[in-house]
Amino acid sequence: MLVDFHTHSSASDGALSPRDLLQRARQAGVTQFAITDHDTLAGCRAALCGYNPGAGETRLVAGVELSCVWSGVTVHVVGLGIDLDNPELNAGVESLQQARLLRADKIAQRLEKLGYANALAGARAEAGSSQLGRPHFARWMVAQGHVKDANEAFKKYLGAGKCGDVKAYWPQLAAVTGWIVTAGGTAVLAHPLKYKLTRMKLRRLVRDFVAAGGTALEVLSGRQAVDQTRMMQLLATEFGLLASVGSDFHRDSPWHPGIGVEAQVGACRGVWEQLQEAGSL
Ligand code: MN
Ligand code: MN
Ligand code: MN
Repeated sequence: MLVDFHTHSSASDGALSPRDLLQRARQAGVTQFAITDHDTLAGCRAALCGYNPGAGETRLVAGVELSCVWSGVTVHVVGLGIDLDNPELNAGVESLQQARLLRADKIAQRLEKLGYANALAGARAEAGSSQLGRPHFARWMVAQGHVKDANEAFKKYLGAGKCGDVKAYWPQLAAVTGWIVTAGGTAVLAHPLKYKLTRMKLRRLVRDFVAAGGTALEVLSGRQAVDQTRMMQLLATEFGLLASVGSDFHRDSPWHPGIGVEAQVGACRGVWEQLQEAGSL
């Protein structure tokens, strides 16, 4: 069975419109699907609007991926089965969008100091109606010939620990996890291996996440080594967490996985079981 509980549309930094993304999931035979755009509910809302799947068709679950900070590290929390109209969640998402603008301003200031003028206007133009973020700065830098590709932009300027890695504006992990839980959703700690934490620090993160109301761990994110997946399953089991899986699809690319992953989580309980019970799927 193919599922996917982590994907991006053009409402954040994905290439496909929410409708096209959903259409692609259906074509790929994905049975359970979530659109989890960064810090916006717009993509998910657009895809869900008027979508009434028949028996055997792709079920769409309301989702989001929220940015936050924990112990000086930028962390992502996915919300699944959320009530899109929940006022607290909407206020939280709005504050994140404000934080994004402030952060973009700061990134631009830092890039200007390095001699790259007009970065903010450039990134804004690249973003259009999407959520402004580092990928748009990267695209602008490529278009300007400052770097040869987005990869280089992240490696030199925008990635973790570089000048564009501005996290001062994100809310705390406990706050964003709380918004998801308040909105009736399942909070999933996204791609735990991407934070490059030591085992001990990762366990501390998971412990704090659980204390904040988090109930699931993304044991598989895109392409991942089998032993890493096993390790994440053990971590989920140890903390009594549900297991989620997703491609983190943004666009068609030879280096990144397509839509749809196998719904296999070893001895863990899949997040979809709870979503079905809660009537979100
Ligand atoms: Mn992204
Ligand atoms: Mn993420
Ligand atoms: Mn993502």
